[in-house]
Amino acid sequence: MAGPHSEFIPPARPIIGEAEIEAAVRVLRSGRVVQGPEVAAFEEEFSELVNGRHCVAVNSGTSALQLTLMALGFGPGDEVIVPSFSFAASANAVRLVGAEPVFVDIEPGSFCVDPEAVAAAVTPRTVAIMPVHLYGHPAAMDRIMAIAEQHNLAVVEDAAQAHGATLHGAPVGAFGTAGCFSFYPTKNMHALEGGMVTTADAELARTLRLLRNQGMEQRYANEIVGANMRMTDVAAAIGRVQLRQLPEWTEQRRANAKFLDSNITGMVVPPVADAAKHVYHQYTVRVRGDRDAAQARLTELGIGNAVYYPTPIHRLKPYLTEDGKPGPWELPETERAAAEVISLPVHPSLSQADLERIAEGANLAGGAR
Ligand SMILES: *Cc1c(COP(=O)(O)O)cnc(C)c1O
Repeated sequence: MAGPHSEFIPPARPIIGEAEIEAAVRVLRSGRVVQGPEVAAFEEEFSELVNGRHCVAVNSGTSALQLTLMALGFGPGDEVIVPSFSFAASANAVRLVGAEPVFVDIEPGSFCVDPEAVAAAVTPRTVAIMPVHLYGHPAAMDRIMAIAEQHNLAVVEDAAQAHGATLHGAPVGAFGTAGCFSFYPTKNMHALEGGMVTTADAELARTLRLLRNQGMEQRYANEIVGANMRMTDVAAAIGRVQLRQLPEWTEQRRANAKFLDSNITGMVVPPVADAAKHVYHQYTVRVRGDRDAAQARLTELGIGNAVYYPTPIHRLKPYLTEDGKPGPWELPETERAAAEVISLPVHPSLSQADLERIAEGANLAGGAR
């Protein structure tokens, strides 16, 4: 039982080790610091994670999503189907290109978009589906791709939380028209900040390369209007170090989750869909009782915890209608998840003693009133 001397277990712990520091210093000393050889090497190495798809590195996961929607030519008048139960970046990317997010509900088990809700949300204005592999669980890509093919829609996977997750053995980021990853410090691997777009379409990859760099392939031979969303070589060098660690960290996350699955009885542990490999960016339980009381109890026990996401995107201010009300969305599973979930620590830095304290604490907190 956690006593007053037990240390606080953080909900996440970004890793910046000696290897990352050495890689950063090596790049700084080299003088080639932006979109140079480290970025090229990172793109090539990351490609192995997504069945050899083209990889285009950018400065954040949000940029990856935004640039992909730009490259596909989407904008005002277009609708993109997204889950409301996600980080705001998913819908923000849609709005940033001037298109409209159409919010759909989730499956209660995986917390990812419900394919039936996706199919029901298609209109003549729909141009794309943006499934989010939330918490590291792959969305039902087999069914989502079938819907996309039937209606001739693009699929932009938000894989920001799911590096290495698979469905039927195929990796996320290798299903859709494009996959978008984030390398923010708390993700399963990081590059301080950074993002990657993955695609099988060479033409799309070229457009993305132009768009991230002012529309240039050759310097001052601008072909189109572009942005500056370049990745630095410092970021890429750190990302390369982290990528080499990813398989080991992923197995550690999965082993941690397995321990919590079999030792937590006081809360509802996260189910995993058939044929899915979950990479546990978050270990997210549902609390049946009073969630505020459960969170307070966990914190008292020194167990880091957080709610991702307490407010579904459709209830955030920028997505309310002009009179300040949520739009016409009916998202009961989204509302229920937002009210019930708590994420517990699952990161690879946890010790066996930490895991035991987390399970014990969750069982105590699950009954808190
Ligand atoms: C982190 C995250 C993003 C954005 O990535 P950044 O690198 O922070 O811009 C997008 N979508 C989801 C689901 C995320 O968790």
